[in-house]
Amino acid sequence: MLWRFTIYLCVQLLGLAAGWRVAGPWGLAAGVVLASWLCWAWETWVGLSVLRWLRQEGDAASAPALHGLWGEACDRMRRLLRQREQQVAASDARLQEFLEALQASPNGVILLDARGHIEWCNQTAAQHFGLHTERDRMQSIGNLLREPAFSSYLVAGDYSHGVQLPGRESSATHPVTLSVQLHPYGDGRRLMLSRDITALEQAEAMRRDFVANVSHEIRTPLTVLVGFVETLQTLPLKEDERARYLGLMAQQAARMQHLVQDLLTLSRLEGSPPPGMSDWVPVSALLSHCEEEARALSAMLTRGQARPHQISFPGPVQARAAGQVAGIASELQSALANLVGNAVRYTPAGGCITVTWEVLAEGGARFAVRDTGPGLAPEHLPRITERFYRVDRSRSRDTGGTGLGLAIVKHVVQRHGAMLEISSVLGQGSVFAVHFPPARVRA
Ligand code: ADP
Repeated sequence: MLWRFTIYLCVQLLGLAAGWRVAGPWGLAAGVVLASWLCWAWETWVGLSVLRWLRQEGDAASAPALHGLWGEACDRMRRLLRQREQQVAASDARLQEFLEALQASPNGVILLDARGHIEWCNQTAAQHFGLHTERDRMQSIGNLLREPAFSSYLVAGDYSHGVQLPGRESSATHPVTLSVQLHPYGDGRRLMLSRDITALEQAEAMRRDFVANVSHEIRTPLTVLVGFVETLQTLPLKEDERARYLGLMAQQAARMQHLVQDLLTLSRLEGSPPPGMSDWVPVSALLSHCEEEARALSAMLTRGQARPHQISFPGPVQARAAGQVAGIASELQSALANLVGNAVRYTPAGGCITVTWEVLAEGGARFAVRDTGPGLAPEHLPRITERFYRVDRSRSRDTGGTGLGLAIVKHVVQRHGAMLEISSVLGQGSVFAVHFPPARVRA
């Protein structure tokens, strides 16, 4: 302030001196007026330059470099501006972080304004509804999503529950289901969340099918059992008839027991951790167990028939040379025996069943069961390992099958990092093979 006053005084004195020198005593007044005008013009020019900077929304860096009163005012304004710039940058960064978080969400997120126009949407939502994240901004969601269920949901305004819509990529063979819900917020705005629930729906359908299948499988032998019990209770039967009925009842009870056992095995497999690499099972033990079971089953099934099965397994020397497999002995044993058992059960008497163990060049091994049974039509192959899937229901039941055998085999094989390969020619026979990876096989 003092500095400013000094300059003002100096200019006045200079004006006085110049006026005195040029025009004597009359020049004094003219000099003072001229000096004042000069000071005023200078102040106005400086003030205008500051105003121009502010009017141009100038940033802190482009502030005019001034001294004195204007300089200090400019400095303060520059500091305020810099603070505001920093605040704007910080809130921009935070907004960006929020949007990135929404972008990373596995669910679709759309922000709608009060008129239902898209303000922002993430990639997942764009994919769910076939939107373009940039091009469709500020477009009405009602115009872009024309699914009738969604239109009525949007109009009804009751957002306490969601709505299910077919996804954009949904087709008859690959249905895609989306769950969509709107959440009101702020000043009439709405947050629209979408979730792909296809897998959930499929799991639910599978659960329903599974329960229906299990109930059906248990109800059939139970009905037979109840019928026999009533017969035994109400009719005066001869001893041999009683014995026959009791035999049939025992058969049905065994069938239910077998089913429950398989169900327990499946649930145990699903709930237990994958087998480690520390336990090594000798292949010879697995093969001899399979052979024993196969021969006993074949003897039982072909009893009284002229031509039994021709069953061939690797010899003892060959079996010993097969080495070891890493895994859980009981699981491997039941899976491999199941494949051999199926070959015996489905191959008519006189047919051939050949079991081999082959050490592969890449280090892995292949267990294969070849039979000359009825074979499978190509359309059954993709579904044959599904639970309760049977090609010939009555034959499966006659031979004591539960329809869970191959599902258990597939589970065990996958848990051991191996692959189940099935090839079959209808009317000629099948090959069920398990391909073990090199890491699980040692000589
Ligand atoms: P099941 O207990 O009925 O045998 P699986 O899961 O073991 O159930 O087998 C499913 C179906 O696959 C069987 O019902 C049968 O139709 C068919 N299948 C399995 N193994 C063979 C085979 N070696 N030859 C022909 N069909 C087979």
